[in-house]
Amino acid sequence: MTRLWNDPSDFADEMVVGFVRANGRYVRQVYGGVARSTAGREPEVAVVIGGGSGHYPAFAGLVGPGLAHGAAMGNLFASPSAHQVESVVRASERGRGVLLSYGNYAGDVLHFDEAQETLRAEGIDCRTVTVTDDIFSAPADDRGSRRGIAGDLPVFKLAGAAAARGDDLDGVERVARLANERTRSMGVAFSGCTLPGAEEPLFSVPEGRMAVGLGIHGEPGLDETDVPTAAGLAELFIDRLLDEAEIPEGVSPQGARVVPVLNGLGSVKTEELFVVYARIADLAQERGLTLIDPQVGEFCTSFDMAGVSLTLLWLDDELEQLWSAPADTPAWRSGAVDTAALTALDPDADLEPERTIPPAGEASRAAAGRIAELFVAVRDVIDEHADDLGRLDAIAGDGDHGIGMQRGARAAADEAATVVDLGAGAGTALTSVADAWADHAGGTSGALWGVVLRALGERVGDDESPTGATLAEAVTAASDAVKEHGRAEIGDKTMVDALAPLASTFAEAVGRGDDPASAWRAAAEAATRAADETADLLPHKGRARSHGEKSRGTADPGAVSLALIATTIADRLPRS
Ligand code: ADP
Ligand code: MG
Repeated sequence: MTRLWNDPSDFADEMVVGFVRANGRYVRQVYGGVARSTAGREPEVAVVIGGGSGHYPAFAGLVGPGLAHGAAMGNLFASPSAHQVESVVRASERGRGVLLSYGNYAGDVLHFDEAQETLRAEGIDCRTVTVTDDIFSAPADDRGSRRGIAGDLPVFKLAGAAAARGDDLDGVERVARLANERTRSMGVAFSGCTLPGAEEPLFSVPEGRMAVGLGIHGEPGLDETDVPTAAGLAELFIDRLLDEAEIPEGVSPQGARVVPVLNGLGSVKTEELFVVYARIADLAQERGLTLIDPQVGEFCTSFDMAGVSLTLLWLDDELEQLWSAPADTPAWRSGAVDTAALTALDPDADLEPERTIPPAGEASRAAAGRIAELFVAVRDVIDEHADDLGRLDAIAGDGDHGIGMQRGARAAADEAATVVDLGAGAGTALTSVADAWADHAGGTSGALWGVVLRALGERVGDDESPTGATLAEAVTAASDAVKEHGRAEIGDKTMVDALAPLASTFAEAVGRGDDPASAWRAAAEAATRAADETADLLPHKGRARSHGEKSRGTADPGAVSLALIATTIADRLPRS
């Protein structure tokens, strides 16, 4: 598969730069994503959307008058970090509060929730409505657990229209919830996507077969059938989406007014979609629906996945009015926006967050130098194992653990070198690296590595070179913080299964009087054993949860990468 890219770890950053240059009329680049390049006469509630890259036109393509105010953009298939979300919100917010809206994925929820907490503490009123339209991702009586796919478009569009109408935050939130209540989708795929820099597709579907219910990150399909004809696919969509359990409450299909969104996931031609749509239109009308303003094209893709999804938005009078309200964004337009009412914003405002390095003691600065060297070693070992980690994650997760860790570790090594040059102590080196890792890695594990490194940095401080006892306390605090943040316990098949024994073995050995280096070697061995043993467990947390059985016999990728890093550090510590 030929792919155009310079460096896969920078793919998303470079993509955003090009996107903004090509669409300066609508958007400007801000730290962490994009925001509108214009403001209207009256301040509006800001609708801030976001998620990983690789889903264009979601999310950056949907920013502009009448739709979203900003989009936080993570790397390929990886959540934006909390810092990135906060930055996009600050650039978008105009004193009337913020609605955060995004697809319901563990990594995104973690980062957006953290950002929401920070923003609220600053006095910015912030609410969240996650999109849960994918009917195959959880049963109808557990809609809150469903993930978001192309239903993003209706929810974002209707919330953006409510904001443009002048609704307050309560009003915009109400419309977004109603829109999500009334949006249902399902998707199918014929072949997986290949990410820039990857040698193989994230997953594959056997020749002649079709995966049913597949997610937008290559999460495995939940069902498989022979590839149907276009008419057969239309029937499958309409049958499943008009199943009684999927009709929104208080709605009757007879005479219902519905917006259909037929979405190509990346490498299905629009002409092919039209062939499928012809039959969808017939079948929907036979079932009593009135189709309004049909959308056929690409709205939420999965890089170059060969797949199709159908979304139905069940209108009421208010939603129908909001749906047809004007909007003008790089990728989506309706009606005519009053351009005379818009003023241009400074394109370069909000580009760089400022940085200050607190003063540090001599010994702590020397320790920071050693930490920077360890991060170079960590970066190299993760580079070497990235493909293996991705393959492990592809068995029950979404296959991004290798590239996520790679992005995190590379950013961490760069950041450590930068702050050490600026004179940072060990504590500041670790907390800066924590932000860099979380900002660049994305994904659940990226956020949790941010939590680990931040907890370490806060305990270690900038005054002295950390002692064994300080390090034991720091590693224990890191383990506790991950448990608290991710709400996972030992046995849930997550990185906690390696981190908890790492911390307890290290603390015990230091407590017995072992020197820190040999205590760490014993701890790294315990973590490696524990990571191997996760193969016997079933997951209860994270993205792998809905595909639990598939992961039996395979170790947890996050536990394996953590043990690998612990071992790499152990190998570089002095032997006495
Ligand atoms: P994502 O799951 O967002 O795709 P990654 O693939 O990078 O993120 O990381 C997956 C790993 O993250 C899992 O193997 C697991 O170790 C870890 N993980 C996921 N959810 C949790 C959680 N709630 N608590 C602790 N670790 C978790
Ligand atoms: Mg993953």
